[in-house]
Amino acid sequence: MCLFCKIVNKEIPSNVILENDEFVAFHDVNPKAPVHILAIPKVHVDSFNEVSPLLMQNMTSFIQDVAKEVKIDKSGYRVITNIGKDGGQEVKHLHFHILGGAKLKWEHFSDSDTQGHF
Ligand code: 5GP
Ligand code: ZN
Repeated sequence: MCLFCKIVNKEIPSNVILENDEFVAFHDVNPKAPVHILAIPKVHVDSFNEVSPLLMQNMTSFIQDVAKEVKIDKSGYRVITNIGKDGGQEVKHLHFHILGGAKLKWEHFSDSDTQGHF
């Protein structure tokens, strides 16, 4: 069973913010912003590559609810999902990073040059 499936099953403790039948949101153990939450589906999905548009429909509402719950919806925030090797995905269970609580820098591309492949 993967790490986040264990969090869903409460085999590994997490600091839960919001939960319903389909999704759970909890604080990232290594926050990269004042607010850094992970929102995941309870069902195991490897990454965004495999997720169904139907699941994304409710996932979208859930992410919006999380932002409201922690009161960053008005000040603004960033939603990120890393996919695969180049995306830097370390946990192979679909998760959305919800980052906020401060003006965020835009520096995610600093370790790659901008000479595109296309
Ligand atoms: P990724 O790099 O796969 O997009 O993000 C994985 C995230 O999961 C990282 O930000 C990391 O800090 C977080 N993480 C890894 N293990 C745990 C854990 O056991 N508990 C919590 N709450 N977060 C974790
Ligand atoms: Zn899983």
